Amino acid sequence: MVCADCGCLVDAGVRLSTCDGPDCCCAALPVREVLETMAAQIRTAFEARDMTMFGALLAEGARWGDDGAPNRCRSRAEVVATLQRLIDAGVSGEVLDLKTGPAGVLCHLRAHWPAHPGLTGRDELFHLYRARDGEIIEIEPYDEREAAEAALSVI
Ligand SMILES: [Zn+2]
Ligand SMILES: [Zn+2]
Repeated sequence: MVCADCGCLVDAGVRLSTCDGPDCCCAALPVREVLETMAAQIRTAFEARDMTMFGALLAEGARWGDDGAPNRCRSRAEVVATLQRLIDAGVSGEVLDLKTGPAGVLCHLRAHWPAHPGLTGRDELFHLYRARDGEIIEIEPYDEREAAEAALSVI
């Protein structure tokens, strides 16, 4: 669908092409190519277990976890440190599939938890990497695909 006001090509809340005009009214909508690139980089970072690479995708003030959560993160450095702690403890995450949408990139992960007291979690989980201006601004965890995809479909 071509936006009648500015000329951006828009599909389900994501821009397939941009008008590049000064009066673009669709500037708040993410660009598919940017999201696809981000998704590929997320996969590469997880496969390489390279959290520095993952951190490069995060906004400086990236958030992870509710305000009441004991391990909440409120900066890129905190997110990277938290992920690195898990990796150092032997936890690994495998990307099963990735999907892009208006809110960003949805990552379906399988986690492998080592036999380690105090370290448990779900085997399969969904992370919505909420994106803005090509950066991840928040990591939102979901247990179920349905809720995760609903969140992905709206900005
Ligand atoms: Zn436009
Ligand atoms: Zn428009």
